[in-house]
Amino acid sequence: MEKATEISPFISAESISERVNELGQEIARTLPSGEILAIGVLKGAFVFMADLVRAIPRDVRCDFLTARSYGDTTETSGVVELASDLAAPIEGKHVLLIEDIIDTGLTLKYLLENLAARKPASLHVAALLSKPSRRQVDIRAEFTGFEVPDQFIVGYGLDAAQKYRHLPYLGVVKN
Ligand code: 5GP
Repeated sequence: MEKATEISPFISAESISERVNELGQEIARTLPSGEILAIGVLKGAFVFMADLVRAIPRDVRCDFLTARSYGDTTETSGVVELASDLAAPIEGKHVLLIEDIIDTGLTLKYLLENLAARKPASLHVAALLSKPSRRQVDIRAEFTGFEVPDQFIVGYGLDAAQKYRHLPYLGVVKN
C-alpha cells in the first residue's frame, strides 16, 4: 500500500469536478452543432475524459488513441508516434481531442497534425492541465482546466511510472 504522505495535494477532487462541469458546458455551447466525437489520449486522459463526456449535454461518441513519446518518464523527447490508433475514420466529424496535460506541446502538435490530415469537420482540444512556462511550440487548447507551474503532477489519470492514476485529486510527488 502506498502512503498518502508521498503526495502533496494540489487541486482537490471538488475543484476538479467544478471545473470539469464548467468545461462541459463551454464545450457544448462552442462546438458546431451535431454529434461530437471525443477522442481520449491514453492513458493519462481516461479519468478526465470519463468525467468530461458526462458533463457535455450533447450527443457524444468516444474513441481512443495512444501517443508514445521517446525519452524518460518525465521529459518528452519530441519524437512522438501512435502506439494505438482510433477504431474508426474521423472524416466529417466534430472532433474533441482530450488530453491530460500540455507540457512542451510537442505531443499535441503531432496529434493535431495527424488528426487534421484525416479531414474532420472541426477539431478542438480540451486539456485538463497546461504548463505554459514549458511550451516549446506555440500551441494551446481551446478548453483548459487549470494552468499549473512547472511541477510534476500526478493523480486523476496522471501517473509517475504508472502509479497514482487512481487518485481522485491532483497532487505533486514529494522529493
Ligand atoms: P508534451 O509533449 O506536451 O511535452 O508532453 C505531454 C505528455 O507528457 C503528457 O500527455 C503527459 O503524459 C506527460 N507529462 C507532462 N507533464 C506531466 C506531469 O506534470 N505529470 C505527468 N504525470 N505527466 C506529464
